[in-house]
Amino acid sequence: MPTPAPSSSALARAAARPRDEMIALLQQSIRLPSPSGQEAAFTNFIAAWAARHGFQTDLWETAEAAVAPYPQGQARHLPLAGRPTLVVKLPGRGQAEPLILNAHADVVTGEAQDNLWSGELRDHLLHGRGAVDDKGPLVGALWAMLVLKELVPVGLPGDLLLELVPGEEDAVGLGTLTSLLRGYRGRGVIILEPTSNIPRCASRPGLRFEVICHGVAVHGSVKWLGRDALASLRRVLDALTALETRWNNSAADPLFAACPIARPVTVDRVEAGRWQGMVCSRALGAGYFELLPADDLALWREKFAMELRAAVPDDALDITFTEQYDGHRTAPDDPLCTAAREAVVALGGSNAWTGWSAFNSGCEAGLRFQAHASPTLVWGPGGLEQAHAAGEFIDVRDVEAFARMLALTAIRYFDL
Ligand SMILES: [Zn+2]
Repeated sequence: MPTPAPSSSALARAAARPRDEMIALLQQSIRLPSPSGQEAAFTNFIAAWAARHGFQTDLWETAEAAVAPYPQGQARHLPLAGRPTLVVKLPGRGQAEPLILNAHADVVTGEAQDNLWSGELRDHLLHGRGAVDDKGPLVGALWAMLVLKELVPVGLPGDLLLELVPGEEDAVGLGTLTSLLRGYRGRGVIILEPTSNIPRCASRPGLRFEVICHGVAVHGSVKWLGRDALASLRRVLDALTALETRWNNSAADPLFAACPIARPVTVDRVEAGRWQGMVCSRALGAGYFELLPADDLALWREKFAMELRAAVPDDALDITFTEQYDGHRTAPDDPLCTAAREAVVALGGSNAWTGWSAFNSGCEAGLRFQAHASPTLVWGPGGLEQAHAAGEFIDVRDVEAFARMLALTAIRYFDL
């Protein structure tokens, strides 16, 4: 039996009523710092909040040995001990396969900054680390679950689950793997990430690379006798910029057509130099290489290493990949996409719909999509340009709007 569709004004009333409480929850969330590896206090806080609001909760820790057989467990990552995973459940009235919402508990610390964890509200903008990535999208989803509890007291045809996973910023997919191993699977999945409130039906796969340049250390006054690893690293960085340009085929995937860079290569860490006055014997550059959903990761690993070596033939390099994650691409005519599009149009008008596009990053979508071929969207309030940025903030009106759209999507999806 289909769920009676609530009017958009009923949705608006249900979502708007406890606005101050929603803002307070987001402020409390931001004020509980949860850098990768230190998610426990925040995850426990959300578990307690969910239990207090009448949701079922499942809170557990996963042993390192359990993830070891999987690629996500083999990626270089912080130890899993003391880093719980949480599933919040809104039980359904029937046996339909669940809809899974997925958020990550961890945030990046990034640049040193005053008031990083302030949670200060000014003119509808809530400031602090994690405001858009990923606590605003998470709170929007929790709010959607509260709205659904009120609007559909008999329950949806199936369970609505929200998994709050550790470590997305540390090793993509590892946290979601802990939930998969616990046995959670869904008919559809919505990954909560900042997408400017536009549902996105694809995301990037990616590789984390490390390039070590080897040199020969000698005193700087006789540098011609040595070999400078730092100069070698400089050539490598230039070569990576040139490769990014060569691989920038904007026609490769229409869902990514709006991205100026088709396959971004981002060096985020360099490390070199041990002794002052000496020619450097070892220099490291590491970063992410983000690809397109149809790119074969094994082939691109080879291509990356081969073309980089060819670009700097005289340099002695070690090239390794320390992490790898899948992307995804859900067909736009999938019922999950239809439900989301209809919810956007129902609440925002036909102008609110701008067509299907991709999330311009990697995220937990790839693993959920690959594991059970679950149709998957990436969706949430706040812009990706705010994620990890100094002065990160979110507009609380966007969080509220997202909660309404998500609630309506869940209702429609189970009926399609
Ligand atoms: Zn995120």
